Amino acid sequence: MSDNIKYSIVVPVYNEELLIEESYRRLKKVMDTTGESYELIFVNDGSHDKSAEILANICENDNNVKLISFSRNFGHQTAITAGMDNAKGDAVVVIDADLQDPPEVILKMIEKWKEGYDVVYGKRAERKGESFFKLFTARVFYRLLKSLTNVDIPVDTGDFRLIDRKVCDVMNSMTSIKEKNRYIRGLVSWVGFKQIGVEYVRDPRLAGETKYTLKKMLKLAMDGITSFSYAPLKLPLNIGIFLTAASVIYFIVELILKIAGIKISILNTAMAVSILLSGINFVVLGAFGEYIGRIYDEVRDRPLYIIAKKVGFDDEDGKTR
Ligand code: UDP
Ligand code: MG
Repeated sequence: MSDNIKYSIVVPVYNEELLIEESYRRLKKVMDTTGESYELIFVNDGSHDKSAEILANICENDNNVKLISFSRNFGHQTAITAGMDNAKGDAVVVIDADLQDPPEVILKMIEKWKEGYDVVYGKRAERKGESFFKLFTARVFYRLLKSLTNVDIPVDTGDFRLIDRKVCDVMNSMTSIKEKNRYIRGLVSWVGFKQIGVEYVRDPRLAGETKYTLKKMLKLAMDGITSFSYAPLKLPLNIGIFLTAASVIYFIVELILKIAGIKISILNTAMAVSILLSGINFVVLGAFGEYIGRIYDEVRDRPLYIIAKKVGFDDEDGKTR
């Protein structure tokens, strides 16, 4: 570890011109109170607004601030990955730019880290200012994922967390196994080590709108499920067993009715059954597609991200990963 940096704060930024300065001020204020060395790494994930200029300006005036600019929008999880790849601190904290995760909670995380925990994750006790849709889908998704996987991924937990250097190194080393569609909160749980949560109230966004479109939310959910569960792949087998059993029962019932002399119009039932079966077929094919698409991503081995510019780092060449 060069420079002996104690804490690295990784902040993914996508079109946050309205709040990035305030966010920087709050983070700086909190980190200054630690009295220890730190770096703030902003990862500009291909913003189209003035975020890049504002961040460059902050960088120029504060030596603790570093900037990584992507060549385009690669997504939240990838931005976090780039920040972690370039972080030098003994502990790395990932936090959103929009101040929904209060920076003050970092101090609590640091306390736990000093007690000997390797991962301290923020557990959302309450989420303020979120739409019913977001709250509902998040609640369902975290529980669905938990039921589908053997990895102990804590529910209601985002990417706001502190990670010890050794955990960060392990996660960064996963380049060698080419984990592309990364679901970071799952990966952190998967690597193990001593983990603990701190509860916090998630505030509303300081300004602007969510940068997580429905499409991005679905992509994240799919990454979470496909990375940590084979359940969708096992679907055909389970459906097959169920349908076989059901049809056997059906034939027995039909036989009994026939013996009893009762007539049944089979047409409607047949229609319903055939629509149901083709629906199930598509679902299963779709599940295969999700996995095959991701296998294809890994095989092609394109870089996870492309850095257009780095400011404030020892190596300022644009690297890929
Ligand atoms: N973000 C990003 N790339 C994206 C989308 C979002 O770097 O493609 C950043 C965004 O600027 C913010 C964080 O990821 O710092 C979380 O996004 P947001 O607050 O929009 O998500 P939400 O809190 O609504 O789930
Ligand atoms: Mg947010």
